[in-house]
Amino acid sequence: MLKLNSSIAELHRVGKATSARLKKLGLNTIHDLLFYFPFRYDDFRKQTKIADLTPNSMASVRGIIDIIQNKKSAKRRLYLTEALINDDTGSLKVIWFNQAFLTKNYKVGDKISLAGRVAENYGQLTMISPISEKVYSEKLIHTQGLVPNYHLSANLTQKQIRFLIKTVIPLADQEPDWLPQEIRKRLGLLDLKTALQQIHFPKNNLEIKKAQQRLSFSELFLRQLKGQIIKQELKNKLAFKIEFQETATRDFVDNLPFQLTSAQKKSAWEILGDLAKSVPMNRLLEGDVGSGKTIVVVLALLNVVLNKRQAALMVPTEVLAQQHYDLITTLLTKYNFRISLLTHNHPDNNASQADIIIGTQALIQDKIKFINLALAVVDEQHRFGVNQRQKIIDFKQDGKTIPHFLSLTATPIPRSLALTLYANLDLSIIDELPINSQKTITKIVSEIERSEAYDFIRQEIKIGHQAFVVCPLIDISDKLGVKSVKQEYEKLTKEIFPELRIGLLHGKLKSSEKEKIMRDFLANKIQILVATSVIEVGIDVPNATLMLIEGAERFGLAQLHQFRGRISRGSEQSYCFLFPSAPESLNEKTKIRLQALSKYNNGFELAKIDLELRGAGEVYGIQQSGFPELQIASLFDYTNINKAQLEAERLVTKDQELKQFPLLLEKLKNWEKTIHLE
Ligand code: ADP
Ligand code: MG
Repeated sequence: MLKLNSSIAELHRVGKATSARLKKLGLNTIHDLLFYFPFRYDDFRKQTKIADLTPNSMASVRGIIDIIQNKKSAKRRLYLTEALINDDTGSLKVIWFNQAFLTKNYKVGDKISLAGRVAENYGQLTMISPISEKVYSEKLIHTQGLVPNYHLSANLTQKQIRFLIKTVIPLADQEPDWLPQEIRKRLGLLDLKTALQQIHFPKNNLEIKKAQQRLSFSELFLRQLKGQIIKQELKNKLAFKIEFQETATRDFVDNLPFQLTSAQKKSAWEILGDLAKSVPMNRLLEGDVGSGKTIVVVLALLNVVLNKRQAALMVPTEVLAQQHYDLITTLLTKYNFRISLLTHNHPDNNASQADIIIGTQALIQDKIKFINLALAVVDEQHRFGVNQRQKIIDFKQDGKTIPHFLSLTATPIPRSLALTLYANLDLSIIDELPINSQKTITKIVSEIERSEAYDFIRQEIKIGHQAFVVCPLIDISDKLGVKSVKQEYEKLTKEIFPELRIGLLHGKLKSSEKEKIMRDFLANKIQILVATSVIEVGIDVPNATLMLIEGAERFGLAQLHQFRGRISRGSEQSYCFLFPSAPESLNEKTKIRLQALSKYNNGFELAKIDLELRGAGEVYGIQQSGFPELQIASLFDYTNINKAQLEAERLVTKDQELKQFPLLLEKLKNWEKTIHLE
């Protein structure tokens, strides 16, 4: 007997070639087939009489074959199959190309059903290459009703896969519904078997909607459940309680040269609230470039050290570590804290004694023995591997206590998406910029205006400013974009700005070389820095007010916005010039995307526009970045995401509750093998 885990090859009529092709789509078992969902449906619910057909429409008709024959078209080396079909109301010509086998399947007198486009051919209504099937019974699956369409690769046809799925649908019975009935009832969700039946072969649009609701809820629910379980496990661990130092915090904030934005206050409040508990914090602080995450972190550091505990801040580069060190030392001068800088070039044997340790990966590599670490902060978290982050989270000092953990990101991911992506983290979002932040003037530059832009840059550099030139990858083989920056560097040094000091920065350089170049740039020994996207990371060069981005259309909006964030750090007006690769032949969508950049200065706004125009896959590079591969759920289905989170929380926080659902636990275990959470 066929089982859900039986191979597709065991199905009747599936040969070696077909099963190899299905394998390429990731379809190995019957279960895989059942869970391979259509991406759209053709609506052939209405049967049209031949007499009522109109040209240039989609239609479904039935009739008896009067004539059917193959012809060879001499001119175009094509096989034509021509047929004449009649119903009670008239007769219709049908043409297929290169499907000579049809004359084997269909004979004169057969009743067939056709669905497809009706055209007018020499004054005669003709159906061209319709989908067709013989009418044996009323149960037609290709040409009648709502007909599912699946994403396929070459050499597989919709008919083939539809036929296979139709064959295995009765086996959906064997898939136990692991979603607790109580949840199903509460949310009015279909049972799994019905949902599977309806997603493939729905009778009407409501059935599609109900099926999608159920299936997408399941996906989101599993993610949330996993996230909640991780959260719950954390609750069994211990962290140092950091009491909120109200007077000192107020005093510190009052002495800042600016007022905190309300988003900064709210985030700081959430973080300090977490720190006050003995349950370890696991929180993501998300905020656009320039939104002021650093000061929020400093408030946390201050409170930790005033509680006589240690805090560590890990950043991705040496230069950034140095900058954070300088800034934080200045901000906290009057407290006389011991602040240590720890990088490979700057080892510090006493780091483990310090109050605040700021450093690069050296922090986790150099086997430092912290004795009192209460808080670990990771800046630009996406720059670190999962393992590195895990190391610092797991950091145990006395066998029991782990540090509170805070990671920072400038990638503007909308809240609903972040909730799904980081189901195991709590979120704080800084979604507003300080009011006085300078808006970078951003302009798309055409080829004719290029030399004008160069002149402008030359003048600005004469009065002491500096510029970034960012280049995209030119081809995939050149993963680090070395080729394109080198070319650009040559061009700029030899032809455009021979009188200026120009530097070159790319990912193939050793990190010590990179660090040296960044230091030279910071010191204005380099006036123009030609770079690949490595400059994305949050370094501060207040004097750099110019940026020129080549091949701008190849970058995502959020990334362009991040680049641009590098030149709005000082008090001077900054300028960003976008050079598209072929400015005169930009398509409309690309134009809208780039124009959005000159209109908006808010990373969240830009991310939203980019998501609408390009979808999450392209915007966040879903394949590489471990984004969830949801089959059916939308990452932007905020309502469903919220419900899933609520239900998962409910299950996990009630003691013993989960154990009552062995099916669910087993499903979770299997599913976990296929994903990883941030
Ligand atoms: P990011 O979130 O990109 O790390 P930073 O923390 O580096 O941003 O802050 C960017 C700049 O804005 C810094 O110069 C900082 O001093 C300044 N800043 C931070 N918060 C405010 C505020 N509330 N008002 C004015 N300036 C602020
Ligand atoms: Mg920063």
